[in-house]
Formats: sequence, C-alpha cells, structure tokens
Amino acid sequence: MSNQETRTDHLTIIPRNQHNVSRKSISEAALKVLYRLDKSGHRACLVGGGVRDLLLGKRPKDFDVATDATPEQIRELFRNSRIIGRRFRLVHIRFGREVIEVATFRGHSEESPRTELNTEGRILRDNTFGEIEDDAIRRDFTANALYYDISDFSVLDYANGLADIESRTLRMIGDATTRYQEDPVRMLRAVRFAAKLDFEIEESAANAIFDCGAQLTVIPVARLFDEIVKLFHSGNASRVFELLRHYRLLQYLMPQLDLWLQDSPDESMLDFIDQALVNTDIRVNNNQHVSPAFIFAVLLWPLVQQQAAKLQSDKTKPIAALTQAGSEVMAQQLKYISIPRRYSQMSRDIWSAQPRFQRTKGKYPLRLLGYPNFRAAYDFMCIQSMVGLAPKKMCEWWTDFQQQHKPAESHRRQPPRTREYRRKRGRHAS
Ligand code: ATP
Ligand code: MG
Repeated sequence: MSNQETRTDHLTIIPRNQHNVSRKSISEAALKVLYRLDKSGHRACLVGGGVRDLLLGKRPKDFDVATDATPEQIRELFRNSRIIGRRFRLVHIRFGREVIEVATFRGHSEESPRTELNTEGRILRDNTFGEIEDDAIRRDFTANALYYDISDFSVLDYANGLADIESRTLRMIGDATTRYQEDPVRMLRAVRFAAKLDFEIEESAANAIFDCGAQLTVIPVARLFDEIVKLFHSGNASRVFELLRHYRLLQYLMPQLDLWLQDSPDESMLDFIDQALVNTDIRVNNNQHVSPAFIFAVLLWPLVQQQAAKLQSDKTKPIAALTQAGSEVMAQQLKYISIPRRYSQMSRDIWSAQPRFQRTKGKYPLRLLGYPNFRAAYDFMCIQSMVGLAPKKMCEWWTDFQQQHKPAESHRRQPPRTREYRRKRGRHAS
C-alpha cells in the first residue's frame, strides 16, 4: 500500500497509477455500459470477478457492473437489455454473444420491508437499493467486493479485499455462519473460488462450512445444478472434488457417491474419476466443448457399476443390467440435483456404450460409431483404459477405427465448432 492511497473510514482508494486494472483488458461491451451510465450522471463500476481476476493478472470469465441507476433507468438507457431475476432484480445487457450483468447497489437488508428472510435466516428476496458502501459489504468474499470506478479509473476497496487478494485469502465479509445461513450456495462458491484462484479459505469461513453444510439441502435443486456445473467446469474440477470431500459437502449433493467413497473404494476407480476431471480441466482451459453429462457420467460410474453387478447376480444380462442400473442411479441422483433431461440421457448413453466397445467384429463397430454421443463415450472409455479399467488396446483400436472412417463420419458426426454451435451447446457448460 502506498502513501498515495486514501484511507477513509472503511474505504481505500487505489488510484489508476497504483494498480494494474487496464481498460485494454476490459471488454468493449462492458466499457460501453460503464461509459453510458457515467455520461448519464450515474455512478458506474466494474465489480466482482472482473476486478478480482484483472488484479490477479487473469482473464475474467465475464464482466459485472454495479451502479446507482435503478433497473428501470438502466432499461431506458439500453435498448438491448432486459430485467431478470426475482430474488435479485438485475439487468442483462446483450452485445452479440456477450451479456453484461448490471446490478443496482443494494442497501441494508434487515430493516427493509423489501428484503424477505425465511425462518432459518435465508434470503428469499432482496431488492432494497442503497449506497455503494452498503453494496460492498453485502457481497460474499472480500476479494469479490472491489470496484473499478469508471469516472477516474481508481479501484475502491471497502472490505480490505486487496490485501486478501495479495495474500490469496478467501475471507467472508461479516460472520461466516450468518452469511452461509442467508445463502448456503456461498459454501459452494467458497470451494469454487478456492480451487479456481488457488486461494486459502480463511479459518472461520472454512470451519463454518462443516457446521452449515446441511443447509445446502434447502437450495432449489435447479440452482444446485447450475452451481455444480460451475464447480466442475471451473477449470479446476480435480481440486474442487478434493475440497468437496474435505468439507463433507458431497453427502448433500451426491449422497450415493459419498457413501461409496466412505466405503474404502477401489483405487483404480478413484484414479478414473481424477483422470476424467483432469481431462475436463484441460478441455476447459483449451476452450474445448465440455458437457455436464460427462461429469455426471464420471461421478456416478462407480455406483452404476456396483448396481449393475448386483442386478447381474440376479440373472439380468450384462448390457440390460447396465442400462437398468444407469436408470436407477440417475433416478436417485435427480432427487438432489435437477439434471436437465438432455444431460441425464447423455450420461446414460455414455454408460450403455461402454460394454459395446468390446465388440470389434462384424457390423458392431460401425453401428456403435453412429451411437448417440459416441465421442463422449469413447473419451470415457479411453480414460478408463488409462487407469487399467479397460484394456489399453481397446482405446487404440477405436482411435484407429475412427481414423479409418473419418471422412464420412466427420461430415455427419462432427458439426463445425462455430461460435453459434458452442453458444447453443455450451449454454450450461460454463
Ligand atoms: P466468476 O464470474 O468468475 O465465476 P464472480 O465473482 O464474478 O466469479 P458472479 O457469480 O459472477 O461471481 O457474481 C458477481 C459478484 O456478485 C461476485 O463477485 C460477488 O461480489 C457477488 N455475488 C454473487 N453471488 C453472491 C452471493 N451468493 N452472495 C453474495 N454475493 C454474491
Ligand atoms: Mg462474474
């Protein structure tokens, strides 16, 4: 911290020449929103992950804006905008594929009739507007509560977030237990940011997760799905998995998997999960397509196999047993996380393709090549072969076989990875 910085009661202002947040690294769309709000006489700041990641020298995933303009005023300024959300009213401003999320500064919740809490202290709805300093302390972690002010390009720090970024500490603003009670998803956000940013969760925020974990069961299953996808597509899924285990959160998200993990699981199956997650991380970091279906297929695979083995001992044929086991395990899982049907079906396709990779004679291989979601099933099989759960030769054989059938297949099975294609496919993928 230098002497040029101004410290008021709770605010530290870091002037432009004292930080590395540059307009060059901010998207044109975000700058347009900031400038137009500013010109119209409003306060306009970049906030959240955008500022945090730029300070860390990383490329932000998206840009969030905070302002004193109300949602209606924002709507009037931007034709390409719409108001979304009920719990928190926000405005989405669309520029082609990019969406800038603009939120009005939020005020004190407790005394406001516009904030609804349930009996456990969970925030159901909160649309009380306020000042920027109130807005800052309503955010989750100090590293997420920094503002980049477009009027003079300074960074505003109301929660000592800069020091925490420097020491790579994820610190909850306020009392961690209360903040988890208000919104239990903050526990999953803690895990995600700790993994993604390689931050240490500060002790009291970390300890409170052990006490508050069970509150995740009150979160609507659809919101949990979105959060789980964000966790496993964060580019650090392998670490996320470790942390979810460490904080004993899996029991509330994937109880079947949690039980299996407690029951001295098979090492090669654990290796498989880890390899598959590492593989997903590599794909995410290379901007390749990833699907939630693959993640669920991987994480539920030990249970599906276990259940299939049980059914087989009851005289069901192997392939039929696998299909039935897949449906049963998925049905159990859906009680905890609502996985949209297109993904749960794809996970089942990946599973039921696995025994079919053994048939390399006659008409079978070509038939499998035309199987729904062949490519994901093939990746899944090759990862199994890497850890000794399938023969090494099998992956090699199918790699060659695909090469030989590439011209016709690539035309039919591999749509070009255009932006439009990714946007449609990737809607839930990031
Ligand atoms: P990223 O976009 O990289 O995943 P982010 O920090 O920008 O990370 P968002 O979900 O985009 O996360 O939210 C933007 C900001 O809104 C956060 O940085 C934080 O300040 C605030 N925020 C989001 N969710 C919550 C929450 N559940 N509780 C409190 N503040 C939140
Ligand atoms: Mg963000």
